[in-house]
Amino acid sequence: MLSAEKLTLSFGKTVALAGASATVHRGEVLALVGPSGSGKSTMLYCMAGLLDPDGGKVEFDGRILTKLNDDVRSDLRRREFGFVFQFAELVPELSLRENVSLPLELNGVSRREREARVDELLDRLGIAEQAGRRPAKVSGGQAQRAAVARAMAHRPRVLFADEPTGALDSQNGTLVLDALLDLAAVDETAVVLVTHDPEISARAHRVVQMRDGVATS
Ligand code: ADP
Ligand code: MG
Repeated sequence: MLSAEKLTLSFGKTVALAGASATVHRGEVLALVGPSGSGKSTMLYCMAGLLDPDGGKVEFDGRILTKLNDDVRSDLRRREFGFVFQFAELVPELSLRENVSLPLELNGVSRREREARVDELLDRLGIAEQAGRRPAKVSGGQAQRAAVARAMAHRPRVLFADEPTGALDSQNGTLVLDALLDLAAVDETAVVLVTHDPEISARAHRVVQMRDGVATS
């Protein structure tokens, strides 16, 4: 569904990607692993169309992402992709429920449809009981699960996650990974995640090892 072929990208003299390739299919969780500075985040951002590689191509669903103009690409990104980062980055003034609902509201989804979708997600992620609380009033794991729910709200075809469990203890990390695996299995979403944690990558469907900007599967 999404493939990156021979990506190269340098920041000044620093070579971040030196011909890295990776593919993820529908319903599959792909883990990018490797030492710090090996190019994992850069690879993820290029695959997500957030960064332009110097060379190589990214193909999504038969379209060459790297050739689309900015407007078309950001529109595609908004509709088809979801993002989760290391720190939940929820809106602090809003409850978990309101945070999850926000992208649907911004996309003009009706209140009835929004409420049904948000309830379903809060339930699937096991945070229904905390839904009325603000992010500061729940655990880091619960906030991160709300961030995953928010990223899933518009039913993206690909979800990108940069160290989504990096700030969590192993129990909460497992719960977040469970949510991502469930998303892949139930909604057939492709998931691309960056992780340092061997317990997380061991449960991914496909692992790509990054080293000095090169990827090996
Ligand atoms: P990882 O996520 O595996 O730790 P990154 O993809 O963040 O690695 O970085 C790969 C290399 O590119 C590193 O040497 C890093 O310092 C460099 N790099 C990444 N982003 C930038 C940037 N915006 N400006 C300059 N150098 C960068
Ligand atoms: Mg990184």
